[in-house]
Amino acid sequence: MMKFTCPHCNEKTFTPLQKALAGSMKSVGKSCPNCGRKCCNGMESAYFDSIISVIMLIAIFVIYMKADASMKLQSSILISGIIIARFVLSFLFKMFFGKLVQPVRTMK
Ligand SMILES: [Zn+2]
Repeated sequence: MMKFTCPHCNEKTFTPLQKALAGSMKSVGKSCPNCGRKCCNGMESAYFDSIISVIMLIAIFVIYMKADASMKLQSSILISGIIIARFVLSFLFKMFFGKLVQPVRTMK
């Protein structure tokens, strides 16, 4: 089973799911099961989130501009799908890519 390394104790303690739930650098993070210190996702996932957020906003804007009254339902469904896809992609990226780091809040 694939596991991620804790930045504090250097043990492979985080499963992909635990890593995805550890949040971003601005979050409080998640405690390492081995050393108990807080870990979160690093800059890679923050960059990825910014990129997909921009793509999402452009896509929503384009749909909004192009949709006429007859396409209102379809465009609402499409926009909802894009918003859900943005969260799913962000979660999957955290599960499989990037490193764990110490959250900014706990840095001294
Ligand atoms: Zn640890």
